[in-house]
Amino acid sequence: MRKFPEADLCVKCGLCLPHCPTYQQSLDENESPRGRISLIQGWSNGQLEATEALQKHLDHCLLCRACEKACPAFVPYGQLMDRYRAEVKEVDKKSDRKLQNLLSSGQKLRWLSRLLRIYRKSGISWFLRTSGILSVLGLAKYDAMLPRSIKAVKKESDQGDLGNEVALFSGCMGRLLDGETVNSAKALLNRLGYRVVMPEAQNCCGAVALHDGDFTVAEALASQNSQAFSGAQIVLTIASGCGATLLDYPSRFPAVVETKHLAGKVKDVSQFLVENWPDDIPLKALPKKVFIHTPCSLKNVMRQPSGPEQLLGKIPEIELIKDSESQHCCGAAGTYLLDYPETAKRLADGLIEQIEVLNPDYLVSSNIGCAMHLRASIAARGLKTEVVHPIVLLEKALP
Ligand code: SF4
Ligand code: SF4
Repeated sequence: MRKFPEADLCVKCGLCLPHCPTYQQSLDENESPRGRISLIQGWSNGQLEATEALQKHLDHCLLCRACEKACPAFVPYGQLMDRYRAEVKEVDKKSDRKLQNLLSSGQKLRWLSRLLRIYRKSGISWFLRTSGILSVLGLAKYDAMLPRSIKAVKKESDQGDLGNEVALFSGCMGRLLDGETVNSAKALLNRLGYRVVMPEAQNCCGAVALHDGDFTVAEALASQNSQAFSGAQIVLTIASGCGATLLDYPSRFPAVVETKHLAGKVKDVSQFLVENWPDDIPLKALPKKVFIHTPCSLKNVMRQPSGPEQLLGKIPEIELIKDSESQHCCGAAGTYLLDYPETAKRLADGLIEQIEVLNPDYLVSSNIGCAMHLRASIAARGLKTEVVHPIVLLEKALP
């Protein structure tokens, strides 16, 4: 039996090539979707050795899935890459689970979040940054990824109608660094009359484990999350990277039956708010210039790219500038920004140049990974644009 039947769907037409950021940068066929599919086929049928060079070409893939959206043969490229990485990991038996262990531990995340809040609030970060100590230690870029202030997630509130309930998937990074967005989501949904529940048993979505080829860990997380949300009718995500992963559960873990139920209930929070925003809640004017960044996971996987624009378009006097349809991956791509910082920086450059020219007050992004990467890239150019989730601005406009 063929190991990767998905690869055989590829007719090698090359229509995906103009959409692939790594191919566009290198013009190297090995760095293209078609080339990578051929490398997987060659490796799996024994024609190619698993050399370091072959592995690098496959590791360089951002998993942005722009190719999947453009493919007329419907090659499930994301699924193919995830399965390939799992297979290679199985052969290598190498697994560094430090990051995944941290992301999967609610207790460790709570402690780390507390420490980071103290770090930001106490002035330690200001001192280390302005004294140059962070640069000397090579930590300045990590500091620049953090939000200006890190808020704690507020305790559950009983506001909203008990019969009108939605569940919120905060994601590990949401709990760690993005209390501001979680709190805005709760406040806005409460205002619309929804009671918001955040099941304690929810865990990291598993994107890092999945993309790292660690299927065992990713499957356990998928099972845990599916059970945690089994009683929910609607599951809203505040990070499109998490939303995309939850939607992928059934195709990645067909043996875990409950994943199907969870995937059928997932929606991006901006999309949900647009669809349910009543006419009788007016918004205050917010005369700010706002650049909308659309994460790959929102447009290529969740396929709900217009939610943030439609939502923010309800705010009087706001000036919206949207990134172009052809805007490729910003380079964040999960842990890609840490593994390949130079390529990640080059991929963000075009967008940051636009920010330099347009000088918006805010850049909004629906994915925390992209937000962190773009925040650091903006800071590196000495620009003042603040990076937030779109719903944080919507909450600012609530009367
Ligand atoms: S567009 Fe699809 S079928 Fe054509 S080369 Fe790319 S992956 Fe293969
Ligand atoms: S997922 Fe993105 S980077 Fe990877 S081959 Fe497809 S278009 Fe290129």
